[in-house]
Amino acid sequence: MRRYSAFALAREALNHHEGWERAWGSPELKSSYDVVIVGGGGHGLATAYYLAKNHGITNVAILEKGWLGGGNTGRNTTIIRSNYLQEESAAIYELSRSLYETLSQDLNFNIMFSPRGVMMLCQTEHELRAMKRTAHANRLAGIETELVDPATVAKHCPIINLDGPRYPVLGGLWQPRAGTARHDAVAWGYARAAAAMGVDVIQNCEVTGVDVSNGKVTGVRTTRGGVRCDKLAVVVAGHSTVLADMAGFRLPIESVALQAMVSEPIKPVMDIVVMANTVHGYLSQSDKGEMVVGGGADGYNNYTQRGSFQHIEETVRALVETFPIIGRLKMLRQWGGIVDMTGDRSPILSKTPVEGVFVNCGWGTGGFKAIPGSGWATAGLIAKGEDDVAGPFSLDRFREGRMIDESVAAAVAH
Ligand SMILES: Cc1cc2nc3c(=O)[nH]c(=O)nc-3n(C[C@H](O)[C@H](O)[C@H](O)COP(=O)(O)OP(=O)(O)OC[C@H]3O[C@@H](n4cnc5c(N)ncnc54)[C@H](O)[C@@H]3O)c2cc1C
Repeated sequence: MRRYSAFALAREALNHHEGWERAWGSPELKSSYDVVIVGGGGHGLATAYYLAKNHGITNVAILEKGWLGGGNTGRNTTIIRSNYLQEESAAIYELSRSLYETLSQDLNFNIMFSPRGVMMLCQTEHELRAMKRTAHANRLAGIETELVDPATVAKHCPIINLDGPRYPVLGGLWQPRAGTARHDAVAWGYARAAAAMGVDVIQNCEVTGVDVSNGKVTGVRTTRGGVRCDKLAVVVAGHSTVLADMAGFRLPIESVALQAMVSEPIKPVMDIVVMANTVHGYLSQSDKGEMVVGGGADGYNNYTQRGSFQHIEETVRALVETFPIIGRLKMLRQWGGIVDMTGDRSPILSKTPVEGVFVNCGWGTGGFKAIPGSGWATAGLIAKGEDDVAGPFSLDRFREGRMIDESVAAAVAH
């Protein structure tokens, strides 16, 4: 793989940019692989990359039914943070956030990581107490967060209205090294780096069946024919239960559409990310100047993958009191993705009842931030059969009642 660098750019500029090679190839599906990964979103691609990089396993195929990152990875609002409450979560989300810090260099692909800081507002006494608890938990876990007063919130976010009649701002949980990254670049960067190490990245290839013999996976059926494999990783977010059905087991997952929208571009007004969990919405400003607005998940299970009128009203109505400028913005686009929700709002990284089948799912409304750490841990689980970071997130926890409750940290869709 040719390295991207300032020199390469200069050389190509002189060459009318005609010498660039394809970022990743378009290989034919082979008849068998050591590992097949279903799902070419961030988590599937990162899993393939760390399988190759950390464990030297390169006879791997990623099978994606559409295009890379075309699921939730390319539809999210790109917030990266690690201010979760439980120790197990802190471990995986902080591993992820710290990997994001150097991911552009690691992948040799600019993922535009922007550690601009994330502020989670406290707009009720209850929320203030909950965030105080989270700040203490974060400190114990070695994660840099701070509970700040309303004046500090306003200093970071000048467009905020601190004195809303229903939801005054009482403080905020501030994580200075949290932020955003360019979501498709994360998918493309992992794909390019994995392909360079020998992984087959195959798009437009839908998995339609899973072959199991004597309780062990033997392969998958796809729209491009059958493939044999020793191990199968199911990394398909909102379609996890569909794949689990094919393999013959059940997952405690519900699929719902989660929606977001962007406004027309405006001059820079806000250089951090602000989440207003009580009113259920959050905001950041994109590099193009659009206000990126995230709202809640649909209140009913569905696979629609698109926005709805009622959500524009609900989300905007919630945010205008705290961010009055929203009332004067025109909304440009709205969309939805199908997210995979667990009861305790924590992911599942696990072996399954079928030998050789692994699942990485349940990231719900907040898995973009977790892509590097999740890929790292899932690769370890697949390669060695166990992984310290993935361990607590096994399917067993639902049988054993050992929940990792993150319903506060994941209270708003993000
Ligand atoms: C509107 C919205 C906003 C969000 N905002 C944030 C945020 O700010 N921060 C954050 O951390 N997270 C956020 N998320 C959540 C985050 O996007 C997801 O948790 C994450 O992208 C999941 O990645 P993934 O790789 O598991 O899934 P996906 O990116 O959905 O990839 C799964 C892939 O599997 C493929 N697939 C499905 N079935 C098959 C099949 N049978 N055969 C082959 N391929 C198949 C799909 O086509 C898809 O490409 C948001 C999500 C949405 C929808």
